[in-house]
Amino acid sequence: MWEDLEVTLEKVGVDQRKEKPSQDNLGFGVHFTDHMFLMKWDREKGWHDANICPYGDFQISPAAMVFHYGQAIIEGLKAYRGKDGQVFLFRPKDNFERMNQSALRMCMPRLPVEMVVKSLKALLYLEKDWIPTAEGTTLYIRPTMIGVQPAIGVNPSSEYYFYMIMSPVGAYYKEGFSPTKIYVSDEYVRAVKGGVGEAKTAGNYAASLLAFELAKKNGCSQVLWLDGCEHKYIEEVGTSNIFFKIDDELITPPLGGSILAGLTRDSVIKLADSWGVDVVERKISIDEVLEANDKGRLQEVFGTGTAAVISPVGEFYYKEKPYLINEGKTGKLSAKLFAELQAIQKGEQEDPFNWTVRCG
Ligand SMILES: *Cc1c(COP(=O)(O)O)cnc(C)c1O
Repeated sequence: MWEDLEVTLEKVGVDQRKEKPSQDNLGFGVHFTDHMFLMKWDREKGWHDANICPYGDFQISPAAMVFHYGQAIIEGLKAYRGKDGQVFLFRPKDNFERMNQSALRMCMPRLPVEMVVKSLKALLYLEKDWIPTAEGTTLYIRPTMIGVQPAIGVNPSSEYYFYMIMSPVGAYYKEGFSPTKIYVSDEYVRAVKGGVGEAKTAGNYAASLLAFELAKKNGCSQVLWLDGCEHKYIEEVGTSNIFFKIDDELITPPLGGSILAGLTRDSVIKLADSWGVDVVERKISIDEVLEANDKGRLQEVFGTGTAAVISPVGEFYYKEKPYLINEGKTGKLSAKLFAELQAIQKGEQEDPFNWTVRCG
């Protein structure tokens, strides 16, 4: 119904545009481009007032329901610049389809996917000079939806904002891969089946912060979550899914309702499978992983997510003991998956799965 909703354009004057940050030190999510996309929803009009406008603060009531009851969902995707200056998106439709799954779970309105992808392409075209060109740098895109009805009382909001902001981000691995140390949380849990773990909703990240602080205190950079019932089966790592190569099998926990269905996870499964790797989605316990490690059968562990693509794990810290994995080195399959996925994302490699979308 809203697939052909018109988008108005309000440009920032050329002399008011921000200075582009240096590409050597972009960091992650600290700089924002000159424009953003914003549209509104209410019960009467549905989606309306779609606008590409100057990036800036907007005014919402202090009673906006998102502040009290947490109706906030997000996505994360990237625009990549290929060798010939071409701009690519990676599976953008899948991101907005997933956002609609999150919306369903959180009683929020569905997005018109085609229209949103089209608007994103228009926004990217306008901001193409913001897409960094240095090796490994990208433009990170953060779609967000929030409930803004000014009211107190637990109910789904009757008004929403959907917006997309963009941030040039630095190379994740500046000096090659560096395997991370991961804290296995046996006290706090991220999600339980039936809860909101499979939705990319803000509260999941607020709930993860305390365990993350514990991880940092123990010299780790991420938290590995175990299942919420038995604290036994592996779920995921921070904002990444996780894979284990044991003997010659690539194992990842199944999407059982408490895990976020990562697009990088899905891409890795399909890519590895196409190479003839045995990929298995099954429950795997922390004890099984540590035992396999002990016996020398655990060859590689890596996380998958849009931010780092592939993130090798070099050590687990569990119940106050460290466990070195693959001598703390990056595995061969991790490195190959990283190289191949990056090449596909930048349009440098044939894309047999039709994942990349060229944007002018
Ligand atoms: C976003 C996210 C992922 C990774 O998803 P991708 O689509 O691969 O970026 C995994 N786990 C959680 C909790 C996430 O929020």
